[in-house]
Amino acid sequence: MGAGDDYRHASDEEEALIVSKTREELRANDSRRFWIVVSLLLLVSVLGLGLLYSRAGGGIITRQEEFPLNFLVIGDWGRNGFYNQSLVASQMGRVGELLDIDFVISVGDNFYNTGLTGVKDPKFTTSFSRIYTAPSLQKPWYTILGNHDYMGDALAQLDPAMTQRDSRWYCRREFELRRSLCGSLNTGACESSVDLFFIDTTPFIDEYWMPNATQTFDWRGLAPRQEQLRSQVERLDRLLASSRATWKIVVGHHTMHSFGRHGDSVELLDQILPVLEAHDVDAYINGHDHCLEHIKHSDSKITFITSGAGSKSWQGIRPATVANGLHFAYDGQGFVSASVGRSSFLLEFYDAFGNVLHTTHLRK
Ligand SMILES: [Zn+2]
Repeated sequence: MGAGDDYRHASDEEEALIVSKTREELRANDSRRFWIVVSLLLLVSVLGLGLLYSRAGGGIITRQEEFPLNFLVIGDWGRNGFYNQSLVASQMGRVGELLDIDFVISVGDNFYNTGLTGVKDPKFTTSFSRIYTAPSLQKPWYTILGNHDYMGDALAQLDPAMTQRDSRWYCRREFELRRSLCGSLNTGACESSVDLFFIDTTPFIDEYWMPNATQTFDWRGLAPRQEQLRSQVERLDRLLASSRATWKIVVGHHTMHSFGRHGDSVELLDQILPVLEAHDVDAYINGHDHCLEHIKHSDSKITFITSGAGSKSWQGIRPATVANGLHFAYDGQGFVSASVGRSSFLLEFYDAFGNVLHTTHLRK
């Protein structure tokens, strides 16, 4: 039998069968297409309804709704724009706009090398007002003093005259900031809040008080040292005990835990840390070491954040791993952003080029 026999024409009966089958298939295809269209329409409706429902119920939400409060943290910065201070400032402006920040926190060592000479010191303009010029940074700057600020006229930075020079400036030795998480559009979590407690750590450090200390500090306006330290610890203890905030954050200049050049501050570990532990503080944020760090020990609830990289940096990081509590360290210039929500507190670490180097979520 030749191969051509396989290509005979179909009989009329066979053709009728084929046509009938084809019609059935077409009908089946039409039916399938119909149900696909119906299913897609249903899916779109369900998604649409779901979206409406979740907007009303708080399911699918925008970043601004999830994090109604946003701020930046910078430390150790005032060097007339040099040592990449200006570079960091411009990236703070970009990120500040992106996050629509509410304020900026400065964790001290605001003016190098020896603070301000007085309320008229031009360094205030050349290291602050003319550096952080981005529109997004025209918000309150909540500022504390670092050891270098105490090496100049410490009272000058606390003087209301500085706020007259630049309305953003708010600097005190100790203060607190309480914010609800309603958000600017009242779409956030109004029943949730964050309390930030700012403390003055420089007087705690023993070496600054040694008779043979090579640097001089402006202790004017402070009570005798032991009295000053005791009153600070008692005040912090009292404020933390009465705080009903969702998030409790303490901000100081000196490190508690750090793998940077200065390392741990034993005075704060002895005198302040037990107060933080007793009141379930979520995070301690500091500067002093000129790097970025995220430290969390497995046996403590407290997250330690170093953001002391506003200008001069590259001073080395000691070798450490997660086992030592070190989750991230960057030995270079940069800053940190904090986005606060009802159940999540997001911290992002940026370098001087605005790259996000590390992210961590504190959760409730
Ligand atoms: Zn310092």
